[in-house]
Amino acid sequence: MNDVLPADIAPWQHLETVARSVFEAYGYQEVRVPLVEHTELFSRSIGEYTDIVEKEMYTFKDLGGDSLTLRPEATAGIARAAISNGMLRGARHKLWCLGPMFRHERPQKGRYRQFYQFDLEALGFPGPDIDIELIALSARLWQRLQLTRVRLMINSLGTPPARAAYREQLQRYFSAHHAELDQDSQRRLGGNPLRILDSKQPSMRALIDAAPRLTDYLDPESQAHFAALCSGLDDLGVAYEVNPRLVRGLDYYSRTVFEWVTDALGSQDAVCSGGRYDGLIAQLGGEPTPAIGFAMGVERVVELLTQSGSVPPGATPDIYIVADGERAEREALRLAERLRDALPGRGVLLNLGGGNFKTQFRRADRSGARLALILGDAELDRGVVAVKPLRREDGQIDCPLNELPVRIAALL
Ligand code: ATP
Ligand code: MG
Repeated sequence: MNDVLPADIAPWQHLETVARSVFEAYGYQEVRVPLVEHTELFSRSIGEYTDIVEKEMYTFKDLGGDSLTLRPEATAGIARAAISNGMLRGARHKLWCLGPMFRHERPQKGRYRQFYQFDLEALGFPGPDIDIELIALSARLWQRLQLTRVRLMINSLGTPPARAAYREQLQRYFSAHHAELDQDSQRRLGGNPLRILDSKQPSMRALIDAAPRLTDYLDPESQAHFAALCSGLDDLGVAYEVNPRLVRGLDYYSRTVFEWVTDALGSQDAVCSGGRYDGLIAQLGGEPTPAIGFAMGVERVVELLTQSGSVPPGATPDIYIVADGERAEREALRLAERLRDALPGRGVLLNLGGGNFKTQFRRADRSGARLALILGDAELDRGVVAVKPLRREDGQIDCPLNELPVRIAALL
């Protein structure tokens, strides 16, 4: 679990600002849901034979004896919120959410126990139009962030019956190679052999590559849905790769699944993953509601931004007020408040805690401010403030107190 310190916050804030504006431009509205839910919500929705439910959840009993879990992902909680707030009933919603998720994983670069995700969920849309639009939104986000080292992979998981037929084939195939399976995969063979395709074990690669392909078992409607998705992305000029091995690690997906991957982060290569989950809401007790969403790993995108150097510098103050002497210090507090009234949104930093001129100017310089205002007894007696540009060679000028806001606005 990480601290994000002020020195590292610029890419986070940049990402948040850009993401918010892109989400809103596509009509997504922010939703905030609890960090804690009943454990059962996650085990029922994410699925028992998944990494998350098998070994990654932070689960505890509360004082009332309920089993609760820190959310490992947001989709289940958002679906729960839509049901328990009566938001569905044929209505459609485009929602987004930002916040921390918790998974008890082995910590390594790009893989943390508390990490942040942006989540987008479109509830009540059968697609494929929304699938196309949602993926186009994610592509636009990379473009706005000037991130180019990302590639889109898509696949279709079909409907549950089509998947059941495929699952049988897969079970037959992997059973015939039982001795070559790693431990996790052996366990998954009986419970959910599709999950084996999601294995990260390099030793499993060849076996997985030779396995039967889900694409060959798709039902006609899912095939049509997928064809429309592909041609829609073609129309919009969004490049993609069809990856028949992309199954996604969670149980609730159906039809469209997609993942943005990067070659810039080593083995933690997924930056944004999503898919359609038409059965989830009914499975959780709501009206049957088709839906699609994605989750983006904020730490991984922040790392991409940092590497790419495309982050605008963080905010610096505009003005630093230097005050010399007791009378000037008192006056400086009043002056700072007056400037904050007159120039809302401008950063006004006041030297606090005294210090000689040299110290104060050093602080002013380090603050990044563009102007220093100097207030001493001599200036007070004359009813002026000395204004000194800190980032240009221009000399210092005296400015009458009452003209200060106008003169400063002109200088900034
Ligand atoms: P991975 O294959 O890397 O384990 P996942 O399939 O478990 O990812 P999802 O549950 O789909 O991931 O979560 C969506 C996104 O959240 C991922 O694409 C990734 O960017 C990010 N993410 C997932 N787990 C972590 C983690 N432990 N630390 C940081 N980011 C994570
Ligand atoms: Mg994972």
